[in-house]
Amino acid sequence: MKELEMIIQDMFHKDCGECTNEELYQALLTYTKQSLVNKGYQDGKKKVYYISAEFLIGKLLSNNLINLGIYDQVAEFLKQNGKSLAEIEEIEPEPSLGNGGLGRLAACFLDSIATLGLPGEGIGLNYHLGLFKQEFHDHLQSEKPNPWIAETGWLKSTGVSYMVPYRGFVLKSSLYDIDVAGYHSKSIKLHLFDIDIADEGIVGDGISFDKKDILHNLTLFLYPDDSDDDGRKLRIYQQYFMVSNAAQYILDEAEKKGCTLHDLPDYAVVQINDTHPSMIIPEFIRLLTERGIEFEEACQIASAMCAYTNHTILAEALEKWPMDYLEDVVPHLVPIIRRLDERMKAKYPQKSVAIIDENDLVHMAHMDIHYGFSINGVAALHTDILKNSELKHFYEIYPQKFNNKTNGITFRRWLMHCNHELTEFITSLIGDGFKTDAFALEKLLEYKDDSEVLKRLLAIKADAKKACKEFILHNTGVEIDENSIYDIQSKRLHEYKRQQLNALYIIRKYLEIKNGHKPTTPLTFIFGAKAAPAYVIAKDIIHLLLCLQELIENDPDVSPYMKVVMVENYNVTAAEKLIPACDLSEQISLASKEASGTGNMKFMLNGAVTLGTLDGANVEIGDLVGKDNIYIFGESSEKVIEHYEKADYCSKEIYESDEDIRQCVDFIVSPQLLSIGQEENLRRLYSELVNKDWFMTLLDFQDYVKVKDLALADYENRQEWAKKMLVNIAKAGYFSSDRTIRQYNEDIWHL
Ligand SMILES: *Cc1c(COP(=O)(O)O)cnc(C)c1O
Repeated sequence: MKELEMIIQDMFHKDCGECTNEELYQALLTYTKQSLVNKGYQDGKKKVYYISAEFLIGKLLSNNLINLGIYDQVAEFLKQNGKSLAEIEEIEPEPSLGNGGLGRLAACFLDSIATLGLPGEGIGLNYHLGLFKQEFHDHLQSEKPNPWIAETGWLKSTGVSYMVPYRGFVLKSSLYDIDVAGYHSKSIKLHLFDIDIADEGIVGDGISFDKKDILHNLTLFLYPDDSDDDGRKLRIYQQYFMVSNAAQYILDEAEKKGCTLHDLPDYAVVQINDTHPSMIIPEFIRLLTERGIEFEEACQIASAMCAYTNHTILAEALEKWPMDYLEDVVPHLVPIIRRLDERMKAKYPQKSVAIIDENDLVHMAHMDIHYGFSINGVAALHTDILKNSELKHFYEIYPQKFNNKTNGITFRRWLMHCNHELTEFITSLIGDGFKTDAFALEKLLEYKDDSEVLKRLLAIKADAKKACKEFILHNTGVEIDENSIYDIQSKRLHEYKRQQLNALYIIRKYLEIKNGHKPTTPLTFIFGAKAAPAYVIAKDIIHLLLCLQELIENDPDVSPYMKVVMVENYNVTAAEKLIPACDLSEQISLASKEASGTGNMKFMLNGAVTLGTLDGANVEIGDLVGKDNIYIFGESSEKVIEHYEKADYCSKEIYESDEDIRQCVDFIVSPQLLSIGQEENLRRLYSELVNKDWFMTLLDFQDYVKVKDLALADYENRQEWAKKMLVNIAKAGYFSSDRTIRQYNEDIWHL
């Protein structure tokens, strides 16, 4: 640690032991950034550019130290000087450059691209205030700006800059880079484009700001409120800024390597992460034709370069931009998009595959599918649904373009970093091969009947639960029982993810305990979730959960036996504390709605048992661990899709015919809850469930109760439960993002 000692001396003229944590953080930052540069960067003739509006990278210090292979030495050096790396890393602000799963996936992919030694780079935007910071006041979510860019941090100014044209003005970009370390291999770069004139000063109350002031707001927030026209247009401004910079950067880099533009696909492959970067296709065509290439050839070049990943089948999330918005923002793309549309309409006149529909809306996904060479779903079930229902008409035209790439997570962050104790124990049993070959975790199965190993697994879980209890106490002020069962649902708040289903179970359990039926082991229901600022019902669900938390906390009949706690500002840092501590992982989306999920994989890897529907990657988890090691409930995706087709689901019928359900739903507007919460919010949620329930909560409720009660009963046999934990960990290897990235490379990128 000579080098680090010298940096500390240089910066602060004292020894490590005399420095404050803040000073040591600064020194470690300098040291780590230098080490990353010294390791060098991956390069090659052909590169993959992973373009994404989100990169939910989380804190980087520890992860970089792990990937550089110096975590243990640094931690030991600090310890010898009376310092704690864990305390120092608290100082690092978490970059908030993503919403949830999609952005986290992009971050895991960068880790794996670097680790596998592939030439690749991420390209996105440098949002100054990122995703909002969540606060709870009066049992309601409020949103605050989340500044994360400090004077010194991971961002490195590059001096690279481009001009981006809009209607009536041109914006100059500045490129910042963050180095992403591969595990025991070279680094790659995450490129984040920004404008110099962005001005945090225009932000008023909460996260409100003038959405029309593009010159100053462009890179302030991730996905600002898009509930009005100005918000939606700002998103187009942002998206175009991202892709125009990306396209210019990619062309420049290829030309520097000797590319003639005609052979561009030999130099670059672009993975379009959901439809936010879709305008890169017409932008490439615009730039290529400007540089003298014929339109037809430009189309072919762009098509040979671009591959699209679909992340959702929720209709409202498939972006469709009105042509007149595009006219207002990027008029120079409009003739190109119209021409792309006409070319396809001439070949395929059916309405279902049109890029521009009869309302003059541009279907971004349709453009990607017609003009990209690959389209992939993110879990086996999701890809099947794309092929057989959602994008069936496209699959008929382009069967060869469709492929599946089941999502994954990086084990460096989601095991080695967040769960040192478990990592060490696994290493002591099977060696450390699993760190680069995740399938090696299967060797753990040899210990399935080893009672010492099972005991140790339970002890490690107990330690993680203690640590999580401290985190929750600090985060919320609520003291939970470390000997209770930790039942965790942490993910974005969305009706399709059905936090409301979990809430109804909690109500039922509350009433049961009130009636004298106490659980054998106390229960702690832990939630973490942000709701989109304009998503009214999602915020009502948060309100219900917070009201339940208070009701139960203050009821001495019930609080010794169960607790509800909602963690504030759920983010990657919080996830890293919750996930190792989880006993039962709630993955209860309505079947067919969750494309993959990656939270499910993180929990499994850390020895939680899944309670879930046959949705997304839960299906593959179930296939891998076998039915004894997962708890599955609920209607199948086929049946659910059929209900939507026939429009024959009626929640009111269930509400009226099932007294048990009625009691739970009615409790939302009971005097007890109304005395804690807001009548408007609770009544609206009640009415939504009774009269609409678009995501079929009531349909699955009874099966959920039955299966969840079974899981909780099974928990009592600790040895048998530990076996389930072990099988889940052992079978998690498939969900390493290293596997996912290998498949992207073999089937799509060919680097
Ligand atoms: C993994 C992760 C998610 C995605 O969770 P899902 O359960 O797959 O929706 C969201 N937010 C954070 C902070 C995560 O780490």
